[in-house]
Amino acid sequence: MLKASCLNGLITAVGADAVFTDQASCIAYSYDNSACQQVPAAVVFATSHAEVAAVVACCYQHVLPITVRGKGSSTTGASVSVAGGIVLSLERMNKILALNVANRTIRVEAGITNLQVQTRAATQQLFWPPDPTSQAYSTVGGNLACNAGGPHTLKYGSCRENTYALKAVSGDGSTLLTGANTSKSAAGYDLTRLLIGSEGTLAVITEATLKLQPAAETRALLQAGFADITAASHAIVALMQNTDIPTSIELLDATSLTMIANYAKLALAPSVTALLFIEVDGSNATIASKIDHTSAALRRCGAIDIKSADQPADIANLWQIRRALSPALRHVADSKINEDIVVPLDKIPILMQHVETLSAKWSLTIASFGHAGNGNLHVNILYNKVDTAQQQRAESCLAELMDIVIDLDGCISGEHGIGLTKQPFLTKQYNQATVNLMQKIKQQFDPANILNPNKVFKQP
Ligand SMILES: Cc1cc2nc3c(=O)[nH]c(=O)nc-3n(C[C@H](O)[C@H](O)[C@H](O)COP(=O)(O)OP(=O)(O)OC[C@H]3O[C@@H](n4cnc5c(N)ncnc54)[C@H](O)[C@@H]3O)c2cc1C
Repeated sequence: MLKASCLNGLITAVGADAVFTDQASCIAYSYDNSACQQVPAAVVFATSHAEVAAVVACCYQHVLPITVRGKGSSTTGASVSVAGGIVLSLERMNKILALNVANRTIRVEAGITNLQVQTRAATQQLFWPPDPTSQAYSTVGGNLACNAGGPHTLKYGSCRENTYALKAVSGDGSTLLTGANTSKSAAGYDLTRLLIGSEGTLAVITEATLKLQPAAETRALLQAGFADITAASHAIVALMQNTDIPTSIELLDATSLTMIANYAKLALAPSVTALLFIEVDGSNATIASKIDHTSAALRRCGAIDIKSADQPADIANLWQIRRALSPALRHVADSKINEDIVVPLDKIPILMQHVETLSAKWSLTIASFGHAGNGNLHVNILYNKVDTAQQQRAESCLAELMDIVIDLDGCISGEHGIGLTKQPFLTKQYNQATVNLMQKIKQQFDPANILNPNKVFKQP
């Protein structure tokens, strides 16, 4: 329950029709795509930078926690208001402020969806490389706050590599301007890269100038089946040695393929136990030779079944196996721990052996798939919630997996962030002195600890 003076302050900031305290509205904004839930005291909608600054200033005065929210598609509990206080939704801040074709930039409000940006950029044969699977409904603000990526991160980078400048509001209501609207900048500290990936704990991002890339004239997709995961992993390393790397390399492991085969038609040779999807782009004149070169490289690495497509309908057809995976996972168990770990490319075969060992040790089904060209795999540990012993085994299995990832010089998160669910592993990734420094940085941006408190780490 908010104090009357605080509620009045919020109403003054955004108007009475943009502050909701009724139970139905608060419940609707109480969860994200994780299993976490907490009903906020109010949901507040801002429509401009000035309104965001006024809301934050009011909450700073009343020491009231703010959980900034795009569309709530976080998988880690990052957008759940666990410390109470308000949810500040930016979904009404969804304007394109400027599209500059000469400079290949687009300036947008943070609540616009990724897909809206792509659609507008495509009118000028441009695109913004971060392309999470959630792009139809996740926002640019949420993408930036999580340093989100997708298949095309492999060739073109994630949010950090594709953002020039930000406008934001820090925890005391001050306006911050980071970076510059230019392709080079060496003026002071790089606060743009610091705010990207900070999960709403340092500042509320209100506007962003994004770096656009020219869309390739054409694309082609290859689907390569391997008899074992080790050969598929070596193929990934081989493809990444080229000067002209693929735009994406996605992997499905044997467990994923078995699960899909149980619920969908798989037109694969029976001996295939690992599948790679490789996308290449280029001009109409070069694409055929790219397909040939990639096929030859895959064959040299032991691919036993290669298909390719260069027409949109055929490409969509080849992707069908990958799309059948999510529904198939739901048939096997009602719950999953979905991790987005990363290992150096040459460690993928070792990681996959460990995953097999963990699956046997803990008697759990584990399906691994994802952006293997970056070494970024979604390792899904499946369990049924009613079976508490199975759930405990899944959690123990996860802890062991994270130790393995760190031993392999990897990273506990490639794109989803830390939020709530991965906090126990942060001090395994970094040493305590490094986490202490992060906590001090947060104090500078957010002196009253009101911006998404208790996310990424707890403040001392
Ligand atoms: C089906 C599905 C597929 C997914 N696929 C991918 C994928 O391929 N790649 C990937 O990287 N992720 C993926 N995700 C995860 C998720 O979609 C991304 O993390 C996305 O960037 C979150 O955007 P959002 O607008 O929903 O943010 P929210 O979930 O609302 O917020 C996420 C975090 O960002 C903070 N935040 C939101 N807006 C702002 C802002 N303006 N300023 C400061 N902080 C802010 C929040 O406080 C929170 O900490 C997927 C999720 C789902 C459900």
